[in-house]
This record gives sequence, structure tokens and C-alpha cells, in this order.
Amino acid sequence: MMPKELKPKKGAANWKALFFIAFGALIAVSALSLFCRPGASDSPSTTPQIAPEPPTAGPASAPSIAAPQPIPATPQTATPPTPEKKNDTYALTVKISASFYNTFADDPEIARIAAETGKKRLAELLSAHVSRNLIWSLDMRREVYPGDEMKLLFRVISPEEQAKRADTPDEIELLAMQYRSIRLGKEIRFYQFKSSDRKFPAFYHADGTAVEKTLKKSPLKEWIQITSLLKDRRPRHDGLDFKAPVGTPIYAPWSGTVEKTNWKTRYNGYSLLARVDSQPAVQMLLLHLDKVHLKPGQRFAAGDHIADVGNTGRSFAPHLHYQLQHEAKKIIDPIKFHGTVAAKLPAADADAFQKVVQRFDALMGNK
Ligand SMILES: [Zn+2]
Repeated sequence: MMPKELKPKKGAANWKALFFIAFGALIAVSALSLFCRPGASDSPSTTPQIAPEPPTAGPASAPSIAAPQPIPATPQTATPPTPEKKNDTYALTVKISASFYNTFADDPEIARIAAETGKKRLAELLSAHVSRNLIWSLDMRREVYPGDEMKLLFRVISPEEQAKRADTPDEIELLAMQYRSIRLGKEIRFYQFKSSDRKFPAFYHADGTAVEKTLKKSPLKEWIQITSLLKDRRPRHDGLDFKAPVGTPIYAPWSGTVEKTNWKTRYNGYSLLARVDSQPAVQMLLLHLDKVHLKPGQRFAAGDHIADVGNTGRSFAPHLHYQLQHEAKKIIDPIKFHGTVAAKLPAADADAFQKVVQRFDALMGNK
């Protein structure tokens, strides 16, 4: 039960604040999920994509309450890769200000680190990485509130390291974070870790539960991260985006029949539209593929290797755009249609993970 004094006051000012929070969160997610641009699907839009400006109205952002200090990188055993230079890891504490996006854009310490490291997009990248993970635990439109406190631990990544890594990282990577929600009276913490049963690092809560839910009958066995969900409400984006390397095999979740392949390739890239046997009104749409292994009219069985992840058409990073729809173009949420399971770290990884938790907590100033 939340103490009474922590409950937000009712009134117009709060509704206004809530509006900016919601709007800011929407903009942060929609501007930054970025792997497919709106219009990339079956019916390409003629409207050019313009990155929306964050709202400027609302109260001034709160100052960060602890000055971040560069932390000398220590050798990592469980989280790849070994940092190439020291002082590339930063801990930061920020309070949510007028909006989720403005919290990052207006923070003087983030601006300072951006100048120091030459990472001009630091604020938007941090905002994107944080929201991409938090969205699994929080309603970004209703449960992010001014005064909530975030601790962030992140690394800046050199262009050389970016080019070398199979998981094609952004210019920064989040290592750990903590979000304290006053409104919900709870704290969310998670840590990046490379488990022994996955190819790429992912985020886990302190009890070893994965932050990201796993789709039952997932079309991919290996992926880096789901970077866009329907509930992030990106305009004109109707699928899940799985960040994954070019060539990652895609397996049919169910048996079905191919309706068409490789149409509107300027937008869709190599693409596949198929009908699902068990629910004939449901179509599965795969975009931006590297290769399609089937032809129109061909049948496939559940588990067949039907295509490979690519970066073709209107795509800005290797990923799979995975979409389910009724014939009438009514969009289906794959999270609901597939159902999900909460992945857990294998027991064999428990000790190594707890060491990472302790190290990251120490770097964030916890305990
Ligand atoms: Zn997409």
C-alpha cells in the first residue's frame, strides 16, 4: 500500500503533466524504435517520415540528483565484450521531469557526457533503450510520472566496436537500470547479462526472470531484442520488430500456405505473406527479409525454415518485421495471439549473474 503523501494530487496541473508524460513517452518510443519506418508495410504511406519534436511546454525538468562520474571499466566475464578503452561506462541518476523524453533531452549531465564522448544522439538513444525495456514492466503512458527516479548504467561504444560486434549495437548500450515509480510504489531493476542458453545478451530482473517476454511458437530462436511492440503505438507501424542479424533463420510458427512473396520491394524488401491453416482468416506478414525460401502457393509446416532475417526495403537496421492481421487488415497483436512465456536464466548461470548484479548495483550506487 502506498503512503498517502506519495499519491499524486488530483487537479488540472496533474492532468496536464500526465498529458505531457504520455505524449513524451509516445514520441520517444515512436521516434526511436526506428527499425522500420512507418509506411514500411503492405500499404506504403506517401507521407515522409519526420522525426517529431519533443514537446517544449510543461514544467522545467528536475536537475539530476547525483553527478555521474566516468567509471573505469573492469573486465567482464558474463557481459560481452571487453571494453576497448577505459572510462566508457557511466552511472547517472535522473528524475522524470515534464515528460519522459524531456527528462533525457534536458538533463545537463547527459548533455555533458554527450559533449565529452561526441555522442550527439546520447539523449535520444538513452531514452529509446530505457523505454524499450521499461515498456515490459510499466504502462509508459500512465505509470511514468514526474518525480519518478531512474538510475542508469550505460557504456558508450566506439565505431570500431560497433563494426566488430555481431549484435550490431547502437552507439551506446544500457548495462543496468533501476526505475522507482512513486505512483505505483514499486521499483523495477534489471541488468544486462549473456546467458549460457542464448546467443546474445538480454536484460534480466534480479531474480533471473527475463525482462522481455518470449513469444510461444516464436518465429525466431535467436534474436537480440524486440525493439517495437504494438502497444508502443508508433503511428502506422503494425508489427513487432525483432532486432536480429542478417541471415537469422525464421521458422513457421504454424502450418500454412504462401499467398505472395516479394511485392512492393522498395518498401517491404523481400517479403512473405502467408495464410495460417488453423485460422484461415489470419495472415502472417514478414518484411525486410534477406531471403524467402518459399514460392506463392507453396505449403509449409510448423517449424519449417521459411525465410531469413534481412535489412531490405525501407529498413534501417537488420531486423524482422513480424505482423499478424485479419484479411480485412485488422491488425492482431502477436503478443496476444501467440501468448508469451516468462523466460528465466538457467540455474547454471545463477552465480555468474549474481556477480553481475552486485557489480552493476555497486556502480549505480546501490547498497
Ligand atoms: Zn517493423
